[in-house]
Amino acid sequence: MLAVINSKNVSVILCRPRYPENIGAAARAMCNMGFDQLLVVDPQNCDLTRILKMATHTASQVVEQMQVYQNLQTALEPLHYVVGTTARLGGQRQSVISADRLAPELAPLTANNRVGLVFGPEDRGLTNEDLRLCHRLVNIPTAEFSSLNLAQAVMIICYELRRDRSTASKPFVPRLANRQELDGMYAQLKDVLVKISYIQPDNPDYFMNNLRQFGTRMGLQAKEVSIIRGICRQINWYGKNCYQDGLKRRREDPCD
Ligand code: SAH
Repeated sequence: MLAVINSKNVSVILCRPRYPENIGAAARAMCNMGFDQLLVVDPQNCDLTRILKMATHTASQVVEQMQVYQNLQTALEPLHYVVGTTARLGGQRQSVISADRLAPELAPLTANNRVGLVFGPEDRGLTNEDLRLCHRLVNIPTAEFSSLNLAQAVMIICYELRRDRSTASKPFVPRLANRQELDGMYAQLKDVLVKISYIQPDNPDYFMNNLRQFGTRMGLQAKEVSIIRGICRQINWYGKNCYQDGLKRRREDPCD
């Protein structure tokens, strides 16, 4: 299954936005997250100067390519799958998924289908008629006050889609310590813990079992094992130095 969103097949649709500043800020958010197809439906005010001021220079390309439609139905015509966003739950909004579950669902679809993300007007959100054109509804979970600024909602949804892509392409896989490295470390630890009398020499394995369980639970990395072994070596070196210093002092002053 494809785990990466194909951003070329994703459009953001602002439905009847009231403020040009929100169109500009939404374009900027899209640009930040690597999306560039912006459709605007029946905007109340499409003042380009005010839009571009919020979009900034970098996102001006998104604004220049922006397509304006008379109604939502026409804007959605070429799209294969439509996601509506809503601040409200319940009523006609029966099955609404949370924003963090959107990326895994959309990723395989975006390989061969054009997907639209629809955002409603600032004052009332999407109407029931708009929602009926959507295959899926998504909500950004919030505290009690659920209505986000339009452009901030665009940012969070685009971020969620982007987040999946970046983690999927660069998984962090640390090199875990192998059995030989672990056994070497436990042997060294046992030796040093007996020497400093932290554990009894007659039954050291009893305590060492606890330490092994602790290490197993941590899933130690190779780098961490070599740090612990370095500490053991240093304790040994320090102990030896102290012992030799003591011998030297006793030889120099046997009455000490
Ligand atoms: N007052 C409206 C919200 C309008 S906010 C209402 O109560 O429905 C403008 C748009 O931003 C919404 O239509 C929706 O597309 C998006 N939005 C705002 N808050 C959201 C949230 N918590 N989850 C999903 N989308 C949200």
